[in-house]
Amino acid sequence: MLDGIKKWIAFLLMTVLSPCALAAAPILSARIWPAEDYTRLTIESKAPIEHQMLIIEHPDRLVIDLEGVKLDENLKSLPSRVNADDPYIKSIRLGRFKPGVVRIVLDLKTRVSPQLFSLKPVASYGNRLVLDIYPEKDAMMSLLSEPFPEKQEKKPAKPEKEKIRPITIVVDAGHGGEDPGAHGRHSFEKNVTLSIAKKLARLIDDEQGMHAVLTRDGDYFIPLHGRVVKARSAKADLFVSIHADASPAGKPRVPRFSLFPKEAPPRLRQGGSRSAKTNPTSSAGWILP
Ligand SMILES: [Zn+2]
Repeated sequence: MLDGIKKWIAFLLMTVLSPCALAAAPILSARIWPAEDYTRLTIESKAPIEHQMLIIEHPDRLVIDLEGVKLDENLKSLPSRVNADDPYIKSIRLGRFKPGVVRIVLDLKTRVSPQLFSLKPVASYGNRLVLDIYPEKDAMMSLLSEPFPEKQEKKPAKPEKEKIRPITIVVDAGHGGEDPGAHGRHSFEKNVTLSIAKKLARLIDDEQGMHAVLTRDGDYFIPLHGRVVKARSAKADLFVSIHADASPAGKPRVPRFSLFPKEAPPRLRQGGSRSAKTNPTSSAGWILP
């Protein structure tokens, strides 16, 4: 009986989903944005794009397959958008790999550490498939993954106070780069959060026994997972994510804050977005929005 129902549901899903799955997702634009720390390739489309990535060596290449996409002028413009002095991309080739699948091949100048992820529409941006190409080892990541420096006592013989590890607070400036967050009349949330985060980090560092680590110190995007990785690498005791949500004109301004203590019971979570309240502790041990 249950099997019969399952088959019917599968059949209905196929009937409903097939036309959508087959329809090509129109590409709105394709661009390459070389930033200070990485190169970003963005493909903006009306609908989310199914995708796969392969990393190939000898020579180093990245292969991205886009499903349900037409090889249109926007995509064809990608090779001409590569800067000759891009530190990572030598050239881009693309073609129809098989029916309904466009394959993009990035010939690389060096080994890289790529991150491919999707962003939902926000403000004037549509769905975006984003490829961030970092050097093989992100400088900040490697710094954070180093063991916490223990201060060497010059006079070990003298029994002094027990060495106390400083409390590490990771200050996360929400959004960044292509993800501007909320829009004000003349401002973007990503800039507001960054300046608050830097000020907060300075205040924390001024406190004795406390140490602040920023997830980002410039205008670039880090996926949620990357923020968690940085917090864990820094062996953070507390993760503070700063956001500056917009409030409609005329509505009362309600200050909100979110606290994400490590593995705290749900009753300790304070404020935050609806998702923060409903999400259980993530597998990384952090409660995140
Ligand atoms: Zn935000």
